[in-house]
Amino acid sequence: MDGDNAFFDVIVVGAGNAALCAALSARQQGASVVVLEKAPPSAQGGNCPFTGGGFRFVHDGIEDLRALLPDLTDAEAERLSMAPYTAEDFRGHLLDVTQGDVDHRLMETLIANSRPTVDWMHSQGVRWELSGGRVSAGAPSVIPNSVGLSAWRSGPGLVQMLTTAARRAGITVLYETKMLRLLVDDAGAIGGVEAQDADDVHTIGGRGVVLACGGFEANAQMRGEFLGDGWERAKVRGSAYNTGDGHRAALEAGAKPFGQWTGCHATPIDVDAPLTGSVEITERMPRRSYPLGITVNRAGRRFFDEGAGFAEQTFVAAGSAILRQEGGVAFQLFDSKAAPHLEPRYALARAATGFTLRELAGKLRVDADVLETTVGEYNAAANGGEYRPRTLDGLATRGLDPPKSNWAIRLDDPPFSAFTVTGGITYTYGGLKVDERARVLGADDAPIPGLFAAGEIVGGIFYHNSLRAAGLMHGAVFGRLAGKSAASGRQSTRSAPPS
Ligand SMILES: Cc1cc2nc3c(=O)[nH]c(=O)nc-3n(C[C@H](O)[C@H](O)[C@H](O)COP(=O)(O)OP(=O)(O)OC[C@H]3O[C@@H](n4cnc5c(N)ncnc54)[C@H](O)[C@@H]3O)c2cc1C
Repeated sequence: MDGDNAFFDVIVVGAGNAALCAALSARQQGASVVVLEKAPPSAQGGNCPFTGGGFRFVHDGIEDLRALLPDLTDAEAERLSMAPYTAEDFRGHLLDVTQGDVDHRLMETLIANSRPTVDWMHSQGVRWELSGGRVSAGAPSVIPNSVGLSAWRSGPGLVQMLTTAARRAGITVLYETKMLRLLVDDAGAIGGVEAQDADDVHTIGGRGVVLACGGFEANAQMRGEFLGDGWERAKVRGSAYNTGDGHRAALEAGAKPFGQWTGCHATPIDVDAPLTGSVEITERMPRRSYPLGITVNRAGRRFFDEGAGFAEQTFVAAGSAILRQEGGVAFQLFDSKAAPHLEPRYALARAATGFTLRELAGKLRVDADVLETTVGEYNAAANGGEYRPRTLDGLATRGLDPPKSNWAIRLDDPPFSAFTVTGGITYTYGGLKVDERARVLGADDAPIPGLFAAGEIVGGIFYHNSLRAAGLMHGAVFGRLAGKSAASGRQSTRSAPPS
């Protein structure tokens, strides 16, 4: 960066989906905008490139979406059917996964702005495609309605299209430039940021700062502090750059923490997964077929209810339970009855196999007597039968601690296989409190002048679980709102120089 004391109307921190929507929206208001990206261009956009690019929004079915799909031919459209996805549907799904804890103001803002934001992104240059992909020739297709569209070329395509749009709009993107802290004036208003690039630490002044720099999932110390014991050992499924810098800087500037700081999206993953995500292999790493077997720790003992529900309902708890075991690892055990039902990605994983439990225990370096006792006790409490993975079969253990509440079918049909797993974190839920205009609120619930936030850093939307394709949608909705507010919300009223 050239020298100190640069000034822009709006400074956006981060260069992912939420950030670039904020930048484009601010620019649309006529503001001069700079985007600060901590990562090099090859890793731009944090977790965004790791996604499939799906967006959940309100729409009225396939005819309603056609204006957003200029490549869709009449013949293709005729073969498609997609039910409308209503505001009530969206609300119901969000209330369901968050067990009603979602902040209702934020939820209504998200739902009401979802469709207009998808249209607006299109107008900015985002190309959409049907989430199910291209229509297969000749065959009528019923397309699920909840995730109406995906960005062309998924998450990486989304970052690319938004970056191109930003450049075209005259927005400056500074790579390898990390926001260190916010500049706060005597009146408590934000007047810019301090940022570090390869050369130096710089002061950048601005009337509005939008924090869109993700969660704290890649910060081991914050994971341990807020998510609890064991989480410092989690492997990170996404970006290495989302280390809670925005959370820390905003709290220092008086922002109010909000949402479920103890909550995150997580899943059991292969122990061989890299420490932080790699776009090429991250999606191969989850190991979510544990309801069809048992999971034991290094001592050879079970430690959670593997059949409490479908994996989508339990994989956060499963990942968390694994991280609390010795070394943060565990072994998922299956027999030949379960093998045909395992997720296809298990075929790519390294497994230990054995025709006896003793043989398997030797390969896993688990005490063979303990493993035989664990499986023996489990089998004595379990049932016969076949696996029906798509049905909560109610086949529960009797008198076993911990219980297995469904799919408790005896593990007695060799060969046995074991997959070594650990806990992988996807992203965190806790963040800052914002209002319907994406203004960051302070301890007194009043907006902090000049401070805005969008994306993963916003608290109050996800609790307990997240809703597929709602993360990108809320990032875009609040990003667009944040950019508009930052550009138009505050005149330059700084009386004292920022400290
Ligand atoms: C494996 C995986 C799969 C996912 N699948 C989905 C999905 O299917 N659908 C969905 O909706 N969501 C999904 N998500 C979540 C989704 O990625 C996030 O909701 C979304 O990317 C968050 O957007 P964001 O803009 O807030 O943050 P990000 O896209 O993570 O961007 C944060 C940006 O801030 C930058 N940054 C961080 N600190 C600083 C700093 N100090 N200074 C400057 N820049 C900084 C980062 O480098 C990055 O560019 C998935 C996440 C992962 C990891």
